[in-house]
Amino acid sequence: MQPTSQKIALIGAGTMGAGIAQVAASAGHPVMVYDEDANAVNLAFEAIHSRLQRRVERGRLPAQKLELIAARLQRAAELKEFAEANLVIEAVTEKLEVKKNIFSRLESICAAHTIFATNTSSLSITEIASALKDPSRLVGMHFFNPAPAMKLVEVISGRETSADVAQRAGRFATDWGKHCVYAKSTPGFIVNRVARPFYAEALRLLQERASNPATLDAIMRESGGFKMGPLELMDLIGHDVNYAVTNSVYEAFYQDARFKPNLLQKELIDAGLLGRKSGRGFYDYANNAHNESVQNVAPQPPPPHVRIHGDLGVAGKLPELLAGAGIAIEHSAGHGYMQLGDIRVALTDGRSATARAKSEQVNELVLFDLASDYVSCERIALCCADQSEPTSIARAAGLFQAIAKSISVIDDIPGMLVMRTVCMLANEGADAVYQGVCSVEAVDTAMRYATAYPLGPLIWADQIGIDRLVTTLRHLQQSYGEERYRLSPLLLRKHHAGRTFYD
Ligand code: NAD
Repeated sequence: MQPTSQKIALIGAGTMGAGIAQVAASAGHPVMVYDEDANAVNLAFEAIHSRLQRRVERGRLPAQKLELIAARLQRAAELKEFAEANLVIEAVTEKLEVKKNIFSRLESICAAHTIFATNTSSLSITEIASALKDPSRLVGMHFFNPAPAMKLVEVISGRETSADVAQRAGRFATDWGKHCVYAKSTPGFIVNRVARPFYAEALRLLQERASNPATLDAIMRESGGFKMGPLELMDLIGHDVNYAVTNSVYEAFYQDARFKPNLLQKELIDAGLLGRKSGRGFYDYANNAHNESVQNVAPQPPPPHVRIHGDLGVAGKLPELLAGAGIAIEHSAGHGYMQLGDIRVALTDGRSATARAKSEQVNELVLFDLASDYVSCERIALCCADQSEPTSIARAAGLFQAIAKSISVIDDIPGMLVMRTVCMLANEGADAVYQGVCSVEAVDTAMRYATAYPLGPLIWADQIGIDRLVTTLRHLQQSYGEERYRLSPLLLRKHHAGRTFYD
């Protein structure tokens, strides 16, 4: 534990500075706050007070505690007052030169043991630290918005950051009730890098006219188990902000195809359709606006029996569920699919149904998408091969409706939506681990706590099966012929060695 007598200093009293000041003062530290705009400090203290007041009214904070926390907050009129600080956290505007200038001034004010932390979300910690005579004392402490509520802090080490400084910064964050992950300074750190495919794959499916936004979002929520769908989340974040992050990661990785932005999002920005804040994005937020609704297949009769060929892998709970719904189950050898009369029903493996039907020499082929949990999910997405009869998909829908799932049919897009997104999230997480940015556990902790994914991407990869993941990504790369879907060498190694991320 870091003693609560340790003095914390905040520079920048905007959204993040105010939130972090509240976190540190609530944990018992004296906190000084400086902003070049004196009124920003007033507004920050008012915002903190009213947030705490709301907690008092809801019975979550004793009234005396509010007064104690408020008494720990002090305004600093100039940086010189930070001479005694143990930890200085900078949360000013995202401009490299401004941040470098602040730390270089602080170096002549603060004692040698003072830790310097920056809350930057996109700038290089190494580059900010280059302004210091002793760059080993500067570390990234990346809080998420709103800082009092969000449980994750990424502790980011630049090229010269000392291990001791990173550990001490992490101890502060942990003592303040945060989950802390350690990473090296690379574009997007962990969260903003690994999360890119969550948005990118949905944008690709929309661009390829797989379905409408409401249906794609519903599939990600109700089948993928994500709290929000990617398109509605981009509307909430703001397309200008989301696109800027994607673009900055893309440029910072020397235009690696993995991170390529999407024209569809650029179009929205060009049209001024920034999402909720401008009233329209993928959805129209005006009262009485007409938005296309989620597409559901009308109720179909359940099949009397189904034959299970081989092991369904990650979808292995389905036979038991179907049996529980009164469908007679028979088992046969095979490479993991269900047979409904003449219709083959299989989990997507990254090929389109049309390509797969040709290679498996069947006409009637319906594919289903990945679900985070086939028992509890409410929806399953289906697609079918161009060679199939139109009635096949309805009959396959009846199978899943028998176990109380809503069914959305999307166009025949390789890898469908949830499978393709999760494979790409895991691929990116694997690459971050492979390149020594962070540990396997850090990827999963970061994505669970910053983005509320139902599972960390790497533990999810283990559940899907590394072999299936590798096959799916290979098929995606073959389908599109794009570098974007190239495999992380770490995934390949796991595949060759028959290992998982957590074995
Ligand atoms: P903000 O615009 O709300 O606040 C920035 C504050 O910094 C303003 O009050 C401004 O007056 C002050 N400031 C600017 N230059 C200064 C200087 N030279 N000296 C003292 N004060 C100065 O910004 P924010 O959203 O709080 O972001 C702050 C930092 O946190 C940025 O680096 C941003 O990338 C990062 N961040 C933001 C979020 C977010 O969701 N807003 C999340 C994580 C990290």
